[in-house]
Amino acid sequence: MVNYKALLSEIQEVYLTDTAPWVIGFSGGKDSTTVLQMVFYALSALSREKLSKEIHVLFNDTLVENPAMVKYVDKQLEEIKAAGKTELFKHNPELFSVVKVTPKLEDTFWVNLIGKGYPSPNRWFRWCTERIKINPTSNYILNTVNRYGHAIIVLGTRKAESPNRSAAMNNYNNGERFRKHTLPNAFVYAPIANLYDNEVWAYLLQVPNPWGGSNRKLLALYKNACSGGECPFIIETGAQSCGKSRFGCWVCTVVDRDKSMENFIDNGDRWMEELLTFRNWLYEIRQQRYQHVPSRLESKVKFGPFLLKTRYEILGKLLEMQEHLSVELITLREVDYIRDFLKEESEGRVEKGMKEFLFELPTGKQVATLSDFNILQTPRKRLGPMSLKQAKLIKSQSVSSDYTQSTRVMYHEV
Ligand code: SF4
Repeated sequence: MVNYKALLSEIQEVYLTDTAPWVIGFSGGKDSTTVLQMVFYALSALSREKLSKEIHVLFNDTLVENPAMVKYVDKQLEEIKAAGKTELFKHNPELFSVVKVTPKLEDTFWVNLIGKGYPSPNRWFRWCTERIKINPTSNYILNTVNRYGHAIIVLGTRKAESPNRSAAMNNYNNGERFRKHTLPNAFVYAPIANLYDNEVWAYLLQVPNPWGGSNRKLLALYKNACSGGECPFIIETGAQSCGKSRFGCWVCTVVDRDKSMENFIDNGDRWMEELLTFRNWLYEIRQQRYQHVPSRLESKVKFGPFLLKTRYEILGKLLEMQEHLSVELITLREVDYIRDFLKEESEGRVEKGMKEFLFELPTGKQVATLSDFNILQTPRKRLGPMSLKQAKLIKSQSVSSDYTQSTRVMYHEV
């Protein structure tokens, strides 16, 4: 039996412990809604004098959010902002902010897939999570840390979400309320870490939503989706659940089937059929070798970039669908940026859209690496057994230092 009163007292105590601002990760799902709701109730019981440190409610918009969620979340964010500024922090509205972060233009899903030709992501080459989920939130947290010296990230992560999540949380379990985040001077506080699914729902359905939102509507959204896990607020690499989530990106090809979207359709959202067909097509063309880089590069490359004509085709279909459905699926800025990319490449001003770098490995073997996959900054475990750390760069125009640091690269033998 959960002692909600004790949980609220703990939240109050933690809030009053120091002066570090709170960055509350909000995804619109049940867990982050629960945490934010509890924070509202806990803080509203404190005196105004004690409510003196900042609260930032942070939502990460990947720009490829499931359209069924976009409307719902936007409304939630407006209501949270209004309630936070005019009620909870009425005495000093500046202390409460709701922030939506988006990926940088050069990092968006479409710019990478269509503009640069990255193959649709899969389990082994999941290039998107870092760019569209982790980096925007990390940058925001880093800026907050730079301004205040430190920050507390408040998350709705729970051990019961999955065995992986539980193991990860137990790894950090040092008996303290905070765990150190990988970002410097940032700490994570997970108030509902020990709650089970049914306890979260019981709380949401019994306790009124303090910003006037409808938790029953949230439940209906969940009912319309499948029985997968919720899309968590992801702030670190290695998050296992990204791509297997209920309300993740509608374009996600990391999963074989998007059961969530299938369920939305089965439950009446028939207009999503077009989205699903398109997503399935992105999944299929990834497996079709003729959609990828020329054959001379194929010997050892498992997933080369998409061909220019394939990328034009993706853009054409996407724009057609956007017009037909009257739902924004790609922004105008992205379209302009992508068109510049494609134009430069078709005019031969960019070599196949990708650069090639020639390396000599310590063994003496020469390998060529492909492209613009050179901006991977984090070593990955899964793809490519080869590390270029000790390799000698023998031919290229220029190479970013991130590239030579990367242990995950696309390469072929020469
Ligand atoms: S949900 Fe899928 S497409 Fe979106 S960031 Fe995660 S892996 Fe990439």
